[in-house]
Amino acid sequence: MSKVPSHARVVIVGGGVAGCSVAYHLTKMGWTDVVLLERKRLTSGTTWHAAGLIAQLRATKNMTRLSKYSQELYGTLEAETGVSTGFRRCGSITMALTEHRAEEIRRQASMARSFGVDVEEIDAAEVLRHYPHVNTDGMTAAVWLPLDGQGDPANIALSMAKGARMGGATVLEGVKVTGIEQADGKLTAVNFQEEDGSEGRIATDIVVNCAGMWARDFGQMAGVNVPLQACEHFYIVTENIDGLKQLPVLRVPDECAYYKEDAGKMLLGAFEPKAKPWGPIPEDFEFDQLPEDFDHFEPILEAACERLPMLAEAGIHTFFNGPESFTPDDAYHLGPAPELEGYWVCAGFNSIGIQSAGGAGWALAEWMENGIPPFDIGDVDIRRMQPFQKNRRYLKERASETLGLLYADHYPNRQKATARGVRRSPLHEHLKANGAVFGELAGWERANWFANEGQEREYKYDWKGQNWFANQAQEHDAVRNAVGMYDMSSFGKIRIDGPDAEAFLNRMAGGNMSVPVGKIVYTQFLNARAGIEADVTITRLAQDSYFIVTPAATLIRDMAWLKMNRRDEVVVISDATASEAVICVMGPNSRALMQSVSPHDWSNEAFPFGVAQIVEIGLGIARAHRVTYVGELGWELYVSADQAAHVFETLHEAGADHGLRLCGLHMMDSARIEKAFRHFGHDITGEDHVLEAGLGFAVSKQKNDFIGADAVARKRDEGLQMRMVQFKLTDPEAMLFHAEPIVRNGEVVSYITSGNYGHTLGGAIGLGYVPCPGEKPDEVLASSYEIEVAGTRVAAEASLRPMYDPKSERARA
Ligand SMILES: Cc1cc2nc3c(=O)[nH]c(=O)nc-3n(C[C@H](O)[C@H](O)[C@H](O)COP(=O)(O)OP(=O)(O)OC[C@H]3O[C@@H](n4cnc5c(N)ncnc54)[C@H](O)[C@@H]3O)c2cc1C
Repeated sequence: MSKVPSHARVVIVGGGVAGCSVAYHLTKMGWTDVVLLERKRLTSGTTWHAAGLIAQLRATKNMTRLSKYSQELYGTLEAETGVSTGFRRCGSITMALTEHRAEEIRRQASMARSFGVDVEEIDAAEVLRHYPHVNTDGMTAAVWLPLDGQGDPANIALSMAKGARMGGATVLEGVKVTGIEQADGKLTAVNFQEEDGSEGRIATDIVVNCAGMWARDFGQMAGVNVPLQACEHFYIVTENIDGLKQLPVLRVPDECAYYKEDAGKMLLGAFEPKAKPWGPIPEDFEFDQLPEDFDHFEPILEAACERLPMLAEAGIHTFFNGPESFTPDDAYHLGPAPELEGYWVCAGFNSIGIQSAGGAGWALAEWMENGIPPFDIGDVDIRRMQPFQKNRRYLKERASETLGLLYADHYPNRQKATARGVRRSPLHEHLKANGAVFGELAGWERANWFANEGQEREYKYDWKGQNWFANQAQEHDAVRNAVGMYDMSSFGKIRIDGPDAEAFLNRMAGGNMSVPVGKIVYTQFLNARAGIEADVTITRLAQDSYFIVTPAATLIRDMAWLKMNRRDEVVVISDATASEAVICVMGPNSRALMQSVSPHDWSNEAFPFGVAQIVEIGLGIARAHRVTYVGELGWELYVSADQAAHVFETLHEAGADHGLRLCGLHMMDSARIEKAFRHFGHDITGEDHVLEAGLGFAVSKQKNDFIGADAVARKRDEGLQMRMVQFKLTDPEAMLFHAEPIVRNGEVVSYITSGNYGHTLGGAIGLGYVPCPGEKPDEVLASSYEIEVAGTRVAAEASLRPMYDPKSERARA
């Protein structure tokens, strides 16, 4: 008789480190009827052959929290389960060989300190003390993380599987999930096949896709989008090296290499710039490896023999090539699939699955238990992925780049080079013809800056002012002193239509939606903790119709949030993104420009701030929204895609008389940060309370039945624990990007959530939360502030009101 139960609360698909972690953490949360199905043997996919590096530091605070969690868990699991994880804290060194990399690792070290990770910069002598065998020639900087570690990947997974079983989970090998049943948009069962060919069904409401490199195709089975692609991933292991003692992990990213000492042998692994996508996966894949490719690995080995001369002497015991899944943005996929209720994902680990799985499994289990993640995990939220990203040619092209990017310089604003041009605005060719240099977001090509006549149309990356700094300044100047025009067609646009549209949105949003037709409301969707799930403008188009504008990257997430929270309200929620282009015309001359191409009255009286009107422009029709994200008088023009080119040409031509300049998104970010407008995903997320984010003005006091209302009321009673503060560096040369530590009266208290250069204010501007329980605004500002930039503390002015135009007189002029 089959050992597979006929019913489960949750079925976890895949017995690699991810699946084992999810099972372990769900049982820890008290879930019973947890079933994990593995098609072959536990760990037989990718997990068994990982190198086992377990680092703590990631690019953001919350990803670092999750990695730290993994590391701490692996250190204690053996005591609980009796299965050794082989985990030991050997420490790690990262060595820079260029000045740019030195700046990068110093910035990382600064950031790490603000996240509570133990890290110090060390000189060559210290490097040699930890790692006597390494050649430090060409070293420009190095950092030491004493608590980083390494472990045995397969045993880590098996230890968690044992823990899950001890907690009551059923963990079965040799059971392949072959189908997902659904009814009325909800998951109802999984179908499976056992190794003897027998088939069956488990009734369940919940599935977690932990199928590693199979996760894309497995997701497709249920119409769920899990964009990832397997790539070949290489390391070599030497023969025994006499006298080799325990060493820290060593990373030399400028040579695409990492080194791990393991039981008297050396392991050398590679993150080469151009990787090799691999597939299709053979049906019988189990503890398999891929053919050697020595030519591909040789350049890395050559440099490694110089860096670690003992490698040249040692024989190679193993040349290992194994597949690992890579995602379009090098971040893994976690959370509820937007396509199907009850379907969760934990997959696509981009070569850091061992160090990530503990934290990812914990966060997912918390999310499944509480309906909300323990903190913002937007970096890895599966709902950031776009439907087109399941395209296999796209995935192959992109994955060939993302593997190598892990060890590439992580410059600010670095753009991907592969798989570009998928989503374009109707104005794309017009922008290109006028010098646009494009960046990519969610597949959209967006003009980030405009090159001047004769200037190279390419990014030259740097940690100081990059080659477009002066262009950004010129565009910024046009918006502040004349008029700038930029394309925001990539905005996500959601229509809510139906008799209950007003009631539904009043429940979803903090702002009051019972407004006249034509009114625009700036508002947030809050979760039950009053954390910010979305930051949007909502325009009432008709009695029964609203139009939501949201950032390009969050459209899928916002649509999913709305659908998930709809009760019995009669509304249609539809994506209107591609139907309209958005042309932003901003700056003090914008009124005169609009007046010159349109017969309407564009005065303040006839067209006040916060209102949308249907207007004629040239020969066409548009809906003009009087709002601004740059803090100036201006309009966002929503134009049917077919008329966008005409409206653009009309404005561009007329603009010559008004000082019009085409602008890009780098200008927009510089202008918005001067005005302290929050940026969703950085400054405001699901874990940031709307009042502490300084957005209380956008929450209606007239209603109390919206999601998050109780948490807003509680915070109003209890008082704020922190406040969002705007900073300006006093040294005009220093640059802020993200995650630089905020130092208050000499102590690191938090970090910058977003930064850019303020060309009007004349210095780098950053936003960040300052913890200040019980303090009055004056007390917060009475302190001295510095921001730590690549290890150097730079004095900063602080403000709780926007430093630029605090009363918003310009936008309302
Ligand atoms: C050479 C190399 C070195 C690496 N080094 C490191 C490192 O040092 N540190 C680190 O953190 N990470 C490292 N990694 C990455 C790490 O190995 C992976 O990220 C991790 O193992 C992924 O785990 P997983 O559970 O997502 O996938 P897998 O281990 O592949 O597990 C997925 C499982 O799902 C099963 N499955 C698929 N379809 C079905 C189905 N329909 N029904 C039932 N079961 C199914 C598969 O059989 C498989 O066992 C390395 C990877 C490689 C290739």
